Amino acid sequence: MQQEAGARGEDLEVWIDQDLCTGDGICAQYAPEVFELDIDGLAYVKSPQDELLQDRGATTPVPLPLLTDVIDSARECPGECIHVRRVSDSVEVYGPDAG
Ligand code: SF4
Repeated sequence: MQQEAGARGEDLEVWIDQDLCTGDGICAQYAPEVFELDIDGLAYVKSPQDELLQDRGATTPVPLPLLTDVIDSARECPGECIHVRRVSDSVEVYGPDAG
């Protein structure tokens, strides 16, 4: 089995395409440290300082202990709008555009 990205020590970041977010909140249930619904009913990522990043498409680092929760969020996201990518080359490793 292929070793998962992130487990190889690669730095990963995650962003949400709010245009496709359905606002169901699944991501915020899986990984509340990383995702939160704003008052507009859409999900946004949070900074390592727990600050909601309200710019559309903002990225935040994926903490290694939360990697599985973030991957599960991307897999279960009904809007298919959670994108996890490598910081080093911006290649998407989990999400709708992952190869
Ligand atoms: S799981 Fe996807 S569609 Fe649902 S709130 Fe989170 S980002 Fe939006």
